Amino acid sequence: MRAATLLAGFLFASCAQVSAAPESAPVSPPPIASLTEGVWLKGDLHIHSRHSKDSSNNPVSNIIAFGQSVGMDFLAITDHDNHVDGAIAQHTWADPEFRSDSVLLLYGAEWTTHRGHGTPLSAAPYDHQKFYDVRDQRDVQVGAVKKELGLHLSANHPGGNDHFGFSYDIVDSMEVWNSAVWSRNAASIMIWDDMLKSGRMIAGRGGSDSHHGFPPTPEQKTDLSWQAPANNVGTPTTWVFSAARTSQAVIDALTSSRASISANPYAPRIDFHADRDADGAMDMMMGDNAIAPGNPVTFRVQLAGATPPGAAYTVSVVKNGSPFGTFEAAGAIPTATFTDTPAADARTYYRVTVEGTPTPYPEVPESQQRSGNMIGLSNPIYFNFDPEF
Ligand SMILES: [Zn+2]
Ligand SMILES: [Zn+2]
Repeated sequence: MRAATLLAGFLFASCAQVSAAPESAPVSPPPIASLTEGVWLKGDLHIHSRHSKDSSNNPVSNIIAFGQSVGMDFLAITDHDNHVDGAIAQHTWADPEFRSDSVLLLYGAEWTTHRGHGTPLSAAPYDHQKFYDVRDQRDVQVGAVKKELGLHLSANHPGGNDHFGFSYDIVDSMEVWNSAVWSRNAASIMIWDDMLKSGRMIAGRGGSDSHHGFPPTPEQKTDLSWQAPANNVGTPTTWVFSAARTSQAVIDALTSSRASISANPYAPRIDFHADRDADGAMDMMMGDNAIAPGNPVTFRVQLAGATPPGAAYTVSVVKNGSPFGTFEAAGAIPTATFTDTPAADARTYYRVTVEGTPTPYPEVPESQQRSGNMIGLSNPIYFNFDPEF
């Protein structure tokens, strides 16, 4: 989340003994970054290896090789820190197999606490033990250590078991799509909309939470090996519009919500743009925040990448947590457009969900029956949000 400062001005102005409270400066969102200078990269941000006790047959090298084979640009192997008493740096990251010349490996772990699970993410090794040690502290202390370590913090499966019980004021993103089983995410999506409606600009991300690879030998098969063909790396896949092909740029793109989620690595990617100044050219994308122009804004949803022959999609638009409308999209580049006038005197956000013809994922053949017709999920486009929040 982008930190809040607006409250400070409000408190100052409401303080009786202050005779001349300053006029609050007009809210002026930062300039919107380029819509073209960057690269779309895809990855999985929640994967367990054999270093998690509940994932005994999934070697790090298998995960990286599998991810590479299905086109992943980045991976976060997020083992449970409580299984190694916080010493992730001596286990997952120190594993000689934790290396790749082609896949960006983010540094993280599943922060497994009494108040729920989260994922700190970093482009470089960090002192995870220090973050582990404050898991039972107050939110403000957790937030201070997070800031000191320079971490992105993501709330894992916030609406499920082990739901996230910390303040969302210390959160940068939320796992709004956990595992191939799309239907289990309804509560997490509800919490996400609640947080967005409260003015927090928190990114939505996916994570397979896959625990079990294909066993190398039949003898190594475990009770949970059934997961491999049903829920594996890339179910779902998170896309980010990254300024560069570096781990830090990937994390920065996620922090700024320039991201969308697709059911698997081959499913189309959602492009969601807006033409704020009505000049016919798109000037905002997911994660961008602008002053509402006071006139109709045109929004465009496109599905990028290959789509199955004859594929048809339904785009459902959510405005401020409520259904706004549904639109059909088909053809070579499935596209839906809609127009609305964001309120001039209030916050407004729009996000979209796409359902339709599934794209097969042959390497994980049973995943489709779990994700059903769910194709993808966008991040929001914002108007009048506090840029400091
Ligand atoms: Zn978890
Ligand atoms: Zn997990």
